[in-house]
Amino acid sequence: MTDLITEDRRVLVFSAHAADFCSRAGGTIARLVDAGGSVHIHDMSFGEKCESPALWAQQPPPAIEQIKEIRGREMSAAAATLGATIDCLDWGDSPLIVDADRQQQLLELFRAFQPDLVLTHWKDDILHPDHMECTRAVIWASRYCFRPGLDIESPPCPSPQLVLYETTLGTAPVARFLPNLFVDISQVQQRKAEALGHLAAQPGLAERYETLAAYRAFEAQSTAWMQGCQYAEAFVRLGTEAAGFDGPAGFGP
Ligand SMILES: [Zn+2]
Repeated sequence: MTDLITEDRRVLVFSAHAADFCSRAGGTIARLVDAGGSVHIHDMSFGEKCESPALWAQQPPPAIEQIKEIRGREMSAAAATLGATIDCLDWGDSPLIVDADRQQQLLELFRAFQPDLVLTHWKDDILHPDHMECTRAVIWASRYCFRPGLDIESPPCPSPQLVLYETTLGTAPVARFLPNLFVDISQVQQRKAEALGHLAAQPGLAERYETLAAYRAFEAQSTAWMQGCQYAEAFVRLGTEAAGFDGPAGFGP
């Protein structure tokens, strides 16, 4: 397997909603950027309906277009804190539907950017259908981006490494998310917390995901020989999980 964090990685990150990239993979994104990689994030929606609770709690709640505008500013500030670029495809949430036209758009995004690493949701994040729809579409694009003869403007590009991040918080046992890759984010944990702080429509993300990162660090210490790791993000490398669990790998500081 290619080392996850090397200096010249071209990385695309796909999230169903505004904050998913940051809460699950913000530390790893910061490390990839610090190593000299180029990281671009595509949020498929603003999470305007299902993941903007603080705005819906207002009386009266803002109009949907206003919510999108606020979330757009939040996600841009979070991505900038990590050193990545971001855009929102604005495909709507609850439900997020990636139809045939949008699949073609995704394929074009892959071929235009030519990523060698793609991060997205766990493929069986069954308790949030939007997350599963995002990953289904991303895996689809990753399996057609290298094929010739398709009706796409850009030429084929190699299929990237696919690495899948955490499920909706607290649902990992139900969704059978069993990490086989840990990244030590101790050095960038503060930056991740600052980025999450920008996503104010979802209060408490920084605190809750710090707790998760501290727990994943115990697993990294115990199973991936990452002694001294205080905070970790956990992933599944697609492919290896299907072939059998051969012990987790880790990327230290
Ligand atoms: Zn989400």
